[in-house]
Amino acid sequence: MTPKIAAYLADHLPATPCLVLDVDRVEQNYRTLLSALPLARVYYAVKANPAAPILERLVGLGSSFDAASFEEIEFCLAAGAAPAAISYGNTIKKVSAIQRAHAAGVGMFAFDSIEELEKLAEHAPGARVYCRLLVQNDGAEWPLSRKFGTTVETARELMIRAGELGLDPYGLSFHVGSQQTTTGSYETAIGRVAMLFTDLAQAGVKLRMVNLGGGYPVRYRDEIPGIDRFADAIMHAMTQHFGNDLPEILIEPGRFLVGDAGVVSAEVVLVCHKAKDDPVRWVYLDIGRFGGLAETEGESIKYRFTTGHDGSETGPVAIAGPTCDGADILYERANYRLPLALRSGDRVQLQSTGAYVTTYASQRFNGFAPLAEYYI
Ligand SMILES: *Cc1c(COP(=O)(O)O)cnc(C)c1O
Repeated sequence: MTPKIAAYLADHLPATPCLVLDVDRVEQNYRTLLSALPLARVYYAVKANPAAPILERLVGLGSSFDAASFEEIEFCLAAGAAPAAISYGNTIKKVSAIQRAHAAGVGMFAFDSIEELEKLAEHAPGARVYCRLLVQNDGAEWPLSRKFGTTVETARELMIRAGELGLDPYGLSFHVGSQQTTTGSYETAIGRVAMLFTDLAQAGVKLRMVNLGGGYPVRYRDEIPGIDRFADAIMHAMTQHFGNDLPEILIEPGRFLVGDAGVVSAEVVLVCHKAKDDPVRWVYLDIGRFGGLAETEGESIKYRFTTGHDGSETGPVAIAGPTCDGADILYERANYRLPLALRSGDRVQLQSTGAYVTTYASQRFNGFAPLAEYYI
């Protein structure tokens, strides 16, 4: 929690649950990332947190943007981004969205199938396109599964076809899975991309860009390697495989830029035991799976909690949300402990919740309002 957030919570005591996000920290994270990877161009993955104050700050810093929908493109344009600084990175797009993005001047589009490539050729003629490869997501705490990307063999055919269809075969992308805690998956993916670059050059298609995607992790409950470790591994792999002929390098950080800039303040609704002799207390908060904590699904992302009783004796807990849905349990198996002094009515903070929380909040499930947001 930044000093600015701590002061805001103490001075204003905003009603819970709410997210308080320090936009200065986003700027700091952007600068840290760029100094670790000075050759890369940053395309902020808007879906991580599309709030206007974040987008506006990043526009001011010269960032580009990775948008997943035409609506996200509109958010970027409204924040002052140039259309040329926006990449339409979702490989699954409605025709109407492609048309509107093209008309708005967005010039770069992702795809991973012949069907999508043909849509782009028809509705965004001449656009720069890049093909997304299917890569291993081992080491990612929030993997992106097999939903996106295609094989190296198919990508080769599609990039050749892109040129034939009048599109500009610009480059290749991958995503190693979100909250990626190991560097090896970037290194392996870069090796595959480089082989395909060589292969396509021999077929007469000279690609110019590698998009390394997102995945750069945030410190939650457990330690993670620092961003320098990822940057070193990435640049080492790039020079090893491309030598002096480095392509343009794009990165699409989402979580890394905004995650540790935000804190959710919540209230304890109830602390109780399921049975008299059960040592595990159940702690119910006024935010849960449907209030925005979707990434606790499968206990994947393990947020860190702080309370006003920190430093005192703790005991084992299960932590759940306030709704009447049985799936609204945050942690039951992940061995969380909270202070024994914790009581109904206390405030708790969920640290580093600036990414993938506000937009995952449901609309009035059980009557609860979507998460309140304060950008300071
Ligand atoms: C979600 C997403 C990102 C951002 O991923 P993080 O793990 O938050 O950095 C980047 N690129 C694409 C294509 C995505 O879908």
